[in-house]
Amino acid sequence: MSFKHRLFNCAIVGALFLSLISSSVGAFQTEKFNITADMRAAMDSISANSLRGHLSFIASDLLEGRNTPSRGLDIAAEYIAAQFRRAGLEPAGDDGYFQTANWKTMEPNLEGFELNIQHDKETISVDEGRVSISLDKALDLANAVAVKVDFNDNAALAAMTEEQMAGKVVLTEMPDARRADQTQRTQIFRAQNEFFLKMNTLKVALVISIDRTGQPVAVASRMIDPENTSPPRRTTTWPMITVHDGRAARMFNAMKPGATAAIVSLHLAAPAEKPLKLRNVIGILRGSDPQLKDTCVLITAHYDHIGVRADAPGDNIFNGANDDGSGTVSVIELASALSSLKQKPRRSIVFMTFFGEEKGLLGSRYYGRHPVFPIEKTVANINLEQVGRTDSTEGPQLANASMTGFDFSDVGLIFKAAGELTGINVYKHERNSDAFFSRSDNQALADQGVPAHTLCVAFVYADYHGAGDHWDKIDYENMAKVNRCVMLALVMIAENPQPPKWNEANPRTARYVKAWKQRHGQ
Ligand SMILES: [Zn+2]
Repeated sequence: MSFKHRLFNCAIVGALFLSLISSSVGAFQTEKFNITADMRAAMDSISANSLRGHLSFIASDLLEGRNTPSRGLDIAAEYIAAQFRRAGLEPAGDDGYFQTANWKTMEPNLEGFELNIQHDKETISVDEGRVSISLDKALDLANAVAVKVDFNDNAALAAMTEEQMAGKVVLTEMPDARRADQTQRTQIFRAQNEFFLKMNTLKVALVISIDRTGQPVAVASRMIDPENTSPPRRTTTWPMITVHDGRAARMFNAMKPGATAAIVSLHLAAPAEKPLKLRNVIGILRGSDPQLKDTCVLITAHYDHIGVRADAPGDNIFNGANDDGSGTVSVIELASALSSLKQKPRRSIVFMTFFGEEKGLLGSRYYGRHPVFPIEKTVANINLEQVGRTDSTEGPQLANASMTGFDFSDVGLIFKAAGELTGINVYKHERNSDAFFSRSDNQALADQGVPAHTLCVAFVYADYHGAGDHWDKIDYENMAKVNRCVMLALVMIAENPQPPKWNEANPRTARYVKAWKQRHGQ
């Protein structure tokens, strides 16, 4: 991709009037933008070393990949809050800078656990230390009849009837998707999902999977959002007990497929519920204009990643330096730079980092339901993802950044204009720009009607969701430059009395336009 590289002339002091490309989508005009000396100094304060310092902590092994929920995630939240405090942002949560989601976790409860499998005059009692439970309710079975099923035998599965299977225990041997490599994992998950849907329609009591490779895998506790009334996603709550026990494997080998003479008894207590606090981190830089300060621009990133995989060989900490430590420390750096302005922008700027993006936009959806700044007064959301690494699988992305949903609203062209002034080529990625729109937290704000986009430097890179996403692979000079572009775009939006608008001419924006109109009583 070609781009024009325009350096800042730092020697120029005083107000600069730069004619920008005429970018008028809807009502938004950015024809002349005044970069003051104050703004230039603030932009110059954004430094590669500062970003490197923050990210080397956020993505350190100590934080164990910032899984949601985890202690590493909580430490990251505390660090971000400390940096917002240092920048002098106004706290905007219910607990200082923290917006607290009071959720619960549900963990398997092995108290009084008993699992007996009887076959051919032999009975084995499976120890609680040799099982992995993915069943989120209590279950008692007394002498349930077992059926041996080949998980891959589609013909046999298709032939099964509810009459034959209801209330029975299915014994099978299921591959552990978490041990498979990434290319196979999706396929295994899909096959398992189909299998469980089938078992569900047959009303089987329980699936027992025999694992001969050995060790129980710690089952992540399940998070419960008390506000979420929709049923849990089936893929996270397969009613299955995996048995890691050589005796059970031998017994399984001795059985013929189909109806067996095996009998299963089980006592499993109801899962234990524990309170869980999850946190978005939010600070405000108040606007300077008496009217416009009641409106805001939202700059966001997710501070969680995918944690540790106990079963991964070698380095098993998924540090998520680029995804999305890079966005997180950019929000911190932008808070610091924008706070240093002597003349604050006219609109308020809200800085926020979300929990739980990797688990399905949890933090941003929570914010969408509990906005601290009214949604109808939130004029835009700029979300930052993967802005640190330039080594995209598509080749180097120096001084290049793409906006998702580039032509869904005015925001793409505002960023393009800001990029012209800061040496960043902000472009529409022909394939990914629209396809990635739904893949980050901007989607949660867009669903509320707010023009919301994600800025990204490398959509895909070698260590994406890999253990090797380390902080020393980031191009910090480039990232600082991207941050200066973001800062300028934020100021452009915050200074302009005309808020960005969804592009109604693009049919893909229909649902967002509808949400926007509802919010604005239209
Ligand atoms: Zn991400």
